[in-house]
Amino acid sequence: MKAFQLVENGKPLQEVEIDKPSPGKNEILLKTVACGVCHTDVHIHEGFFHLGGDAKLPLPLPEPIAMGHEIYGEVVEIGDGVKDIEVGKKYVAYPWIGCRECNECLNGREHYCSPMITQNLGVNVNGGYAEYVLVPDSKYLFDAGDTPDEVAGSYACRGLTAYSALKKANLKKGDDSVVIISAGGLGSLALQIIQAAYSINPIVVDIDDKKLEIAYKNGAKAVINSNHENAAQKIVELTNGGASSVIDYVGSASSYEFAAGLFGVRRGSTYVMVGLIGGQTTVQLPMITLMARTITGVYLGSLQEMDELMSLVREGKIENVDVEVRHASKATETLDDLKNGKISGLVCLTHEK
Ligand SMILES: [Zn+2]
Ligand SMILES: [Zn+2]
Repeated sequence: MKAFQLVENGKPLQEVEIDKPSPGKNEILLKTVACGVCHTDVHIHEGFFHLGGDAKLPLPLPEPIAMGHEIYGEVVEIGDGVKDIEVGKKYVAYPWIGCRECNECLNGREHYCSPMITQNLGVNVNGGYAEYVLVPDSKYLFDAGDTPDEVAGSYACRGLTAYSALKKANLKKGDDSVVIISAGGLGSLALQIIQAAYSINPIVVDIDDKKLEIAYKNGAKAVINSNHENAAQKIVELTNGGASSVIDYVGSASSYEFAAGLFGVRRGSTYVMVGLIGGQTTVQLPMITLMARTITGVYLGSLQEMDELMSLVREGKIENVDVEVRHASKATETLDDLKNGKISGLVCLTHEK
C-alpha cells in the first residue's frame, strides 16, 4: 500500500510502498476514505512542542510513520473474532489507543496511558496518511451516521478534544457568558458542539476577521478580534461583569494573557486550556485565590466521551463544518499551510485519485 511517511522531522514526507497489514483475531482493516490534518501533526512533523523562549519539548521519532489520526475508513477485512462490524461499512476510528493493560487504560482513560507505550493511530503506529489502517478492536470504531466523508474523521481528535474541553468548563445550559478563543479548526467545531450539547451561543475570539465572520454566521453571539483596542473590556461588558468560562483552543502565551483579562469581577469562573501553540507566561497568583478561579488543561478525550459525542453526531444535532479536501500527496504542503495559518477551517486528505 501507498503511505506518505514522516521519515525525518521537518523534512518533506516521503511517498513509500509498505506492506498492507492483515488483521489478527480482533483486528479490523480500514481503507482510508478521508483523514483530517490536525495541528498536532504539525508538531509531530516538527518534532517538538514550544515551551517558551528557546525551550522545546521533544517528540522523538523512533521510526518512520504515516501520520494521520483523524481517520474515516471503510472496513475491508476483519479478524475471526470480530462480530459487530460490517465489511463495506464506514467508521470513524478512535485513535487514542493505550497499552490496554495499565491502570489508566483499565479505567477508561486510554488517552492518559504513558506516552512511552501508547499505540496511538497516526502517532505511534501508521495512520490515515497511509491507504490502509489497522485498528486493534471494534470498540474503537464509531458509526458517523449521515456525516459527510470529509467531516467525519475530525470528530476523532479536534471534535473530541473540543467536546472534552466543554465538559470540563463547568458550563450551565443556556449560559450567555461563555467565551471560546479560536475561530479556527478546533474553535469552529467547538462552536457547533456547544450549541448542540449545551444550547449556548458563545462569544468567539480570534485575530482573523475572516474566521470571525464565519463564526458569527455559524451562531456565535458576538465575535471579537483580540487585536482590537479594548477587546477584553468589551467582552467583560458583554458578559455583564466577566466571563463564566473561557475555553482557549489556541493555548499560546498571548491567548492565555488575553483570557486572564476576561473574568472581570466574576468569582468561580473557569479557564480551560486546550491548544498547544505553546510558550510561557506569568500568572497573577492572588487572582486565582481571590476569584476562586479554576485553571485546567484538557488533553484529547476518553473513549466514553467519544461515544457521547458520536451519539450527538448520529442524531444530526451538530451542524457540519466546511472541510477542504486535498489529495494525500499534498500532505507536506498542507502541514506547512496549517503551520502558517493559511487554512481558515478544516482540511482533510484523501487517497482517491
Ligand atoms: Zn489531532
Ligand atoms: Zn495503558
